[in-house]
Amino acid sequence: MIEVIPLKAFTDNYIWALVSKESVYVVDPGDADPVLEFLDENNFTLEGILITHHHFDHTGGIKNLTNRYDIPVYGPVNNRIEGITHELKENNSISILNEEFKIFEVPGHTLDHIAYYSESSQKLLFCGDTLFSGGCGRLFEGTPAQMYDSLQKLKSLSSETLVYCTHEYTESNLNFAVVVNNENEFLKDYYSEVKAKRKKDEITLPSSIKKELSINPFLRLTDKNIISNASNFASINLVKEVDTLKTIREWKDNF
Ligand SMILES: [Zn+2]
Repeated sequence: MIEVIPLKAFTDNYIWALVSKESVYVVDPGDADPVLEFLDENNFTLEGILITHHHFDHTGGIKNLTNRYDIPVYGPVNNRIEGITHELKENNSISILNEEFKIFEVPGHTLDHIAYYSESSQKLLFCGDTLFSGGCGRLFEGTPAQMYDSLQKLKSLSSETLVYCTHEYTESNLNFAVVVNNENEFLKDYYSEVKAKRKKDEITLPSSIKKELSINPFLRLTDKNIISNASNFASINLVKEVDTLKTIREWKDNF
């Protein structure tokens, strides 16, 4: 059984610590300090690192952690990331703390982006900056079509899958979602819940695939209310899901 614990980093990043007995893996350690503090406080040992993509706020701590621990660093095929010892591709699987994790390539936010999915006893998804609660990552390197395909992979996972993304962006995403999907009553209720949590500085993650399917406009591209609002925004009649995604991504970028 893996326990997943958020370690806060920078202003709104979470480094996820996967803990089983005294053994720990961390996902996307942009900063080594919160990881080292956590390990020292609990007398835990770092056994490995999982990386989702090359951005510095996800990789900046690799060097300091591997200076102290001789451990495997799993990540995408990208020689811009220093310190990867095990390169991973679509459909590879790795065994972490006695759980099998399957690898998905999910380009869009960046071209090298991968996600880690365990469907054995616990259904856990570590999706970096691809799927956020209520939103998706900005398209820095990939195309809307790539992001669409990546999100299709993730939305087809078991609905009880817990979604661990890297940033506390939920409230800001929902500020936008309630505009683009203004007839979604479930979303409005969830938005109130999230605002109340954030007022108390509480975490809004993990989410679940089930919840995202009801609140996340980037997974609801067949919703007539979203298509109509996006069509009005773009002043064209949107038909294809990928065009709706492209439109609401651009809308959100300037929101
Ligand atoms: Zn990123």
